[in-house]
Amino acid sequence: MQNKRGKNKVLFAAMLNLIPCTGCNRFDIPTNDFPTNRDYISQENNADMLERALIKFDPLLRQYLSSIPIYKCECIDVAAAFIGDPTDPNDVFPYIEVNEYWDSTLGNYYSGNELVGSLLGPTTSQPVFQDNFKEELIAHELLHIAQDHTNVDIEEFYRKIVVWYKTTETGTPSPAGINNGQYNGTNRLKYILWWDLYGKHGNPEEDAKWRSMEYSERYKNSIPGVEEFAYIGSKIILPSEEWRIKDRLLELPIDIIEYYNGIIDPKILRLRE
Ligand SMILES: [Zn+2]
Repeated sequence: MQNKRGKNKVLFAAMLNLIPCTGCNRFDIPTNDFPTNRDYISQENNADMLERALIKFDPLLRQYLSSIPIYKCECIDVAAAFIGDPTDPNDVFPYIEVNEYWDSTLGNYYSGNELVGSLLGPTTSQPVFQDNFKEELIAHELLHIAQDHTNVDIEEFYRKIVVWYKTTETGTPSPAGINNGQYNGTNRLKYILWWDLYGKHGNPEEDAKWRSMEYSERYKNSIPGVEEFAYIGSKIILPSEEWRIKDRLLELPIDIIEYYNGIIDPKILRLRE
C-alpha cells in the first residue's frame, strides 16, 4: 500500500466528532511530547464492552488490537484513533483517545463537558458513555487501526465504494430511506452510511453530498476511504442496528466485503453464505 500518511500523524476523526477541539491541536501532536503518564480508561469498568468489541475482529488480530492503549483526554470530544508513522523510529504506537468523561456519569456533565452532555441528553444517573455507545465507538476506532495495520489498499477500496454509492439501479436514497418500503435494502444501507458520514449536521433532504462523495468539513482531513471503511465495518459487526448482520452482508457488494477478510471475524463474514 502506498504510504499516504507522510511525516505527520494522521487523525481519524470520531464518528460523532464535529466540533473543533479546543484543548490541543489534534492534527499536530508532537511525537516527542507524547506524555508517558496518561490516564487510561478503567479496565474494570470497560472489560465487558472491550471484550464484546474485540470478539468481532479476526482472531489473528485480537491480541494486537487488545494491546492498543485507550487514553482519556480532555481535548477529545468523543473518540479518535491515532496512527503512528512507521518510518519514524521516535514515533509512538497506535493509540485511541476518548473523552475524559468516558467513565463518568452525567452528574459530571453538569460540571464539565457540555458537548458530551448535549450528545446524549440530560438523563440522570446514567453513564455519560453507555456501554453500547462505547462499544460502537471503540469498534469504529479499532477498525481504523486494523485497516492501517493490515495494509488495506484504501484507495482501491474507496474507488469501489464510490462506484457502489453512485449505482442508481438500486434507487436514489430517500430522506425517509430507513422506513420507506419503496426503496430496497441496498439503498437503505447507502442512506444510513451517508447519513452517518455526512448528514448528521445537515438536512438530508437537501444535502446530496453523498452523490459526489464530497467530504464534509468534518472529514476534510481524512484520507478518502478511511471513514467509509470504519463505518461500513461497524455496520457489519455491530448487532444493535436496525437490521440483522446477515441482511447487511447481503446488501453489501461482495467486492467490498472482501476487504474485511482478515479484519472482521470470519464467522460473521460467512453469514452471507
Ligand atoms: Zn472514524
